[in-house]
Amino acid sequence: MNLFDVYPLFDIAPVKALGSTLWDANGTEYLDLYGGHAVISIGHSHPHYVQRLTEQLNNIGFYSNSVQIPQQQELADKLGQLSGYPDYQFFLVNSGAEANENALKLASFHTGRKKIISFRKSFHGRTSAAVAATDDPTIVAPVNESGNVVFLPMNDTAAVEEVLSSNEVAAIIIEGIQGVGGVVIPEPQFLQELEKLAKKHGALLILDEVQSGYGRSGKFFAHQHAGIRPDLITIAKGMGNGFPVGGVLISPEIPAKHGMLGTTFGGNYLACAASLAVLEVMEQENLVENAAKLGKYLMEKAKALPGVREVRGQGLMVGIELEEPCAPLRKALLDQYRIFTGSASNKNTIRILPALNVTKAEIDRFLEAFAALVK
Ligand code: PLP
Repeated sequence: MNLFDVYPLFDIAPVKALGSTLWDANGTEYLDLYGGHAVISIGHSHPHYVQRLTEQLNNIGFYSNSVQIPQQQELADKLGQLSGYPDYQFFLVNSGAEANENALKLASFHTGRKKIISFRKSFHGRTSAAVAATDDPTIVAPVNESGNVVFLPMNDTAAVEEVLSSNEVAAIIIEGIQGVGGVVIPEPQFLQELEKLAKKHGALLILDEVQSGYGRSGKFFAHQHAGIRPDLITIAKGMGNGFPVGGVLISPEIPAKHGMLGTTFGGNYLACAASLAVLEVMEQENLVENAAKLGKYLMEKAKALPGVREVRGQGLMVGIELEEPCAPLRKALLDQYRIFTGSASNKNTIRILPALNVTKAEIDRFLEAFAALVK
């Protein structure tokens, strides 16, 4: 059987990893500044993470949500404490797309409405809500079939209010920072207006923090830079440092009902162990602060590099937009300097999404390689 060939892959197969370093079978070493689409938050194979998962596997690997799984409450408590949302409720799933699907379902149940407002160039996973970061009609098509999603320009409050005033909108969904769309930060005033307008028109505000969340932006959630409190917050990616896990933080004003949501694997023992290990390491090693400090350093230095048109980002979610398409430079960084970087739907933008405990020396290695390649 052949694999369904949907991924453009690097011709590299890592067999070992530690921190921000990867090795292939020949022992060739790579610097990972991409972390598999922002997934690696505490570094590859962190010893505390490995220990937590191994211990859990030796006790019990799996049982479904038909029994008590106390680790779920332990995780909810720790996440509530570190994220600043101790009063919210928590629903565990397995991925970012699933987190968004459940947030949209909840918004629809709660409001009795069907329409969704999303923003152009946003990406919310392969959901019915929005696959809009690409202009490829063969990928965007399934979204339009549902007919319930309205794509609006970002930072256009009047356009949002016009759609909301139909009183048919269940939710507005927006990324804390657009990732796939090219590392674009919504204006803080726009997020504040969305919060107010959603309340005024009886819709819910969903903040998709799947990529921008979990400390990456230099605050626990990117939307906290704007001082808002959304009704629903979706998380995944860095949450499990590679273990597939996601979740929805749910306002205390949204009541739960048995059978309303459900998942076979969501909140399993291993997912909880991985997620707890991530939060413990983030707290012990002050990784949110490290993301803020090193992100600022990287962005300041990147602005001075040759061939750079603009640097956007917050913390360690950084987009470096070049004057030209970035593919040749990314290839040279990988082939000649063994450095992994990412791209975006905007072909000129390099996305840098390293582990939150990346070091200054590793950032400098990237900056020096970049400067040597673009003279
Ligand atoms: N939301 C955002 C903002 C994302 O960047 C992604 C993935 O890139 C998703 C949702 C989907 O997450 P997953 O691939 O875990 O379904």
